[in-house]
Formats: sequence, structure tokens, C-alpha cells
Amino acid sequence: MSDLDVVSLRKEYPTRGEPLVVLQQADLALNAGENLAIIGPSGSGKSTLLYCLGALESPTSGGVALDGQNPFELAEPQLADFRNRKIGFIFQDHHLLPQLSVLENVLVPTLAGGAASNEAVERAKYLIDGVGLTSRISHRPAELSGGERQRVAVARSLIHQPRLLLADEPTGNLDRTNAETIGRLLLDLQSQENAMLIAVTHSMELAEMFAARRSLDDGRLT
Ligand code: ADP
Ligand code: MG
Repeated sequence: MSDLDVVSLRKEYPTRGEPLVVLQQADLALNAGENLAIIGPSGSGKSTLLYCLGALESPTSGGVALDGQNPFELAEPQLADFRNRKIGFIFQDHHLLPQLSVLENVLVPTLAGGAASNEAVERAKYLIDGVGLTSRISHRPAELSGGERQRVAVARSLIHQPRLLLADEPTGNLDRTNAETIGRLLLDLQSQENAMLIAVTHSMELAEMFAARRSLDDGRLT
């Protein structure tokens, strides 16, 4: 058994006619410290797959187990907690809150229980340093470049030391140089933190930086 096991994952979306089958029999296994890029064209089901892995969408059938736990067996409050503690998400668009500083944005996932602890603030500063933004720590997103915003999103995704980092087209809005920087940062931090990283992308350049690559073809991982 691996740290992440995905078995025969199937996802259909209902339509007025036949259901739309986006994933069929997708299988994968990953262990702590490993990274994987999944390549597929637009519409191939990359985001759907990540949302199922991140327990944001329930699969139609098949199983996901992270550290032996199937998140879809959990009731909502436990499921939200599982997602918050075990999974870090990075989206194509950074999803930062415009009124908050860099430091506050990185701390957002820790605020569910009230004010940020000293420990959380220390961890946030450590991660902000790790993405090279200590000199921008009190800037707001509008005062940052696109690459810098995405670096904040990377730091935020790691605040809870997630077991599994999921990145959906993380370099999709960036130029080549910034894309390479973000790819490198993601991989360096994933390795330092001994996390698992799965990125979905249509960028071959990004995928080539990863230790392993799969393609999403016709709803299957090949
Ligand atoms: P990708 O991220 O690879 O571009 P998606 O996972 O977003 O692909 O979408 C895969 C397919 O599923 C697309 O054809 C899309 O139109 C369809 N789809 C995505 N989300 C839904 C939804 N909530 N309801 C119905 N169809 C959807
Ligand atoms: Mg997508």
C-alpha cells in the first residue's frame, strides 16, 4: 500500500442525455517524497482528477486513500479538516485575497480556529523566505508581479505541512522564466518537506522537470 492510492477512479457528470464520462479507471500510487506530472490537453479531465484527489469532488466510483484514509467516508466537518490539514492546493490563478498582505495570505489556512499562533507565524515567515519574498512580506497582491503572487500561493499551500500538494496548471499564467522558477520552487519545497506533489498541466516544459510523468488520455492515466 502506498501513501496515496488511487484505484479505478471514475467520474461522470450528469447531462440531459448520457452522462459525460470524464475519468474512467484512473489508477495511480505515490509515496512521500515523490512527484508526478500529469499531462493532458484542455478538457481532458485534469482539473476533475485533481478535485477528486483533493476531496473537493466525489468520484462516481473507485477509491482514493491518503495515508490509508478514504476521505469520501468522512462526514463534512471531518472532511473539511482532512482537506485543510493533509492537502495543499495551488491553482492557475493564485486565489490570493487582495486586501491581505503576503504574510496574512500565507496564514489564511490557519485562521479557521481564530487568530494565528506564533508557531504559524514563524512557519509562514520561513516559507515566505523559502519562496524568496521576505522583502515583500507586507505587500498586498496588487503590489506584486504575477510570478511573485504565485510564489505566495506556493508558500500558502505548504503552511500546514500537507502530505499531498496538488497543483492545477500552476504556471499557466506565467512567462517562461517565471514558469521555470515556480516549477523549481515547487519541486524543491516538495522534496524538503518530504511531501507528495502532483501537478496537472498542458506544459511539456513543466512536466519535464518532474521525476515521473503520466498522460491523461480518454479518461485513463497512461
Ligand atoms: P481540464 O482541466 O483538463 O481542462 P476539466 O476536468 O476541467 O478538464 O473538464 C473535463 C470535462 O468535463 C470537460 O469536457 C468539461 O466540460 C467537463 N466538466 C467539468 N466540470 C463539469 C461539471 N461540473 N459539470 C459537467 N461537466 C463538467
Ligand atoms: Mg483544468
